[in-house]
Amino acid sequence: MNCADLRLLSHAYLDDELDAADSLGVARHISECPACAQRLRLQAQLRERLRDAGLYRSASAALRTRIAARLPRPAHERRHSRRGWSVALATLAALCVIAVMFAGWQALQLRRQGSDALIADAVSDHVPSLLPGHLIDVRSTNEHTVKPWFDGRVDFSPQVRDLTAQGFELVGGRLDVLDGKQVAALVYRRHLHMINVFQWPSKRTMIASAVQTRNGYHVVQWSESGLRFVAVSSVAEGDLRTFVRAFRAAPAASGEPAR
Ligand SMILES: [Zn+2]
Repeated sequence: MNCADLRLLSHAYLDDELDAADSLGVARHISECPACAQRLRLQAQLRERLRDAGLYRSASAALRTRIAARLPRPAHERRHSRRGWSVALATLAALCVIAVMFAGWQALQLRRQGSDALIADAVSDHVPSLLPGHLIDVRSTNEHTVKPWFDGRVDFSPQVRDLTAQGFELVGGRLDVLDGKQVAALVYRRHLHMINVFQWPSKRTMIASAVQTRNGYHVVQWSESGLRFVAVSSVAEGDLRTFVRAFRAAPAASGEPAR
């Protein structure tokens, strides 16, 4: 080993990182070369002084906080944050449900108002129809006369049914306007009471409603065969219910499919 070799190996020798052969070589060289021995002694002194110079400093609390803020957050804190998102999403979902329910309630109110308006309209059409000369455009007790009369007058085929056997006499029919639509009105008689049956095409399906009462008149609504029906009369509630049941059960006039 020469002086150049020793300069290369001196730091590793001081760090005790050399293998046995190199370590022995360095030891032998410095025992023979005072210059290298002196250099090695100075390096060793420098190491000792750096180690004892009090260069170590503890981080201040503020520095720790700043560093901690930049480090990725521990897993349990991230879970906490995810829980926060879950609560936010659940709240949002609940708000959506409330909004949908409110919209549904509003639609129901509008439909109810529409139905109320229809009933009011039907009753206000029924009343003047009781005046002489206003009730009937085609006067006939025969459904085979009444039904063809509507041909060309309305753009649908009204349901005209013979209910004489059930105690409701067909008196005739007329054109009317209900809820802004042209409708067919059939007129039946029960003793001294008149029953108006309004009908018009509608896609809405509706089972027979309960008897509703307005200004002393009874009203029942239902739909069948793509038509909407509203029956209005001053007959007793029970009689109107019987009438609607009979009307729905009776076969249609000829030219319509038998029921
Ligand atoms: Zn040397």
